[in-house]
Amino acid sequence: CGIIGYVGQREVISILLNGLKHLEYRGYDSAGIAVDEDGTMKTFRKTGKITGLDTLCKGHHGQSYRGIGHTRWATHGAPSETNAHPHLDCQRRIAVVHNGIIENYRQLRKELEESGHVFLSETDSEVIAHLLEGEGTPFERIQKAVKRLQGSYALCVLFLDELNTLYGVRMFNPLIMGISEGECFLASDLPAFLDTTRKAIYLEDGEVARITPTSWEVKDFSGKSKTSKTITSIPWD
Ligand code: GLU
Repeated sequence: CGIIGYVGQREVISILLNGLKHLEYRGYDSAGIAVDEDGTMKTFRKTGKITGLDTLCKGHHGQSYRGIGHTRWATHGAPSETNAHPHLDCQRRIAVVHNGIIENYRQLRKELEESGHVFLSETDSEVIAHLLEGEGTPFERIQKAVKRLQGSYALCVLFLDELNTLYGVRMFNPLIMGISEGECFLASDLPAFLDTTRKAIYLEDGEVARITPTSWEVKDFSGKSKTSKTITSIPWD
């Protein structure tokens, strides 16, 4: 399973699909993407191979320059279109892809359902999208959500209301940033963006990355900026 995020100036759907194909080696049973199309969240989900998702997206003609994608290896909830990521909040303003396992999702889901959240899937991951709803800046909401999460996660998060931005969050699962001219990536592994850039920044557990087409920033969960992060140049071999 793998995750990818892109924000930049090129049409995002083909970039995400290409990235997911390069993450296929990690194994998966279904795949999906979510993109910001003129302020509306568009999602595409498909069981089976990425080529199926590719075909599904082919008929779609829209312009979008930021999005997230996922190849799923189901741990909670059968492999199906409804359980495939990305998962959204109730308002469809936040999309999340998750690699890992949320150990305490039953408890969280119960609490969220009791306070009125409606769930559409059987996954452990969907609680994350619902936890991110509410007050505060995107970063503050992420801070609040990770305090509640137990388990392992690498996340890409798209908040429709904060333009040109994506967030990556890492705890016990890999996540890397890819930096290029006027565009940035998040991904589980390098092959997802090596076609475009050899400049990578490895995230560590307990870090949150915020990327835009022309900037990147890493903080820890307490909100402290990680000024020591450096760009690694991946050699051509
Ligand atoms: N636990 C999540 C699920 O079953 C994510 C699995 C993954 O890492 O692909 O949907």
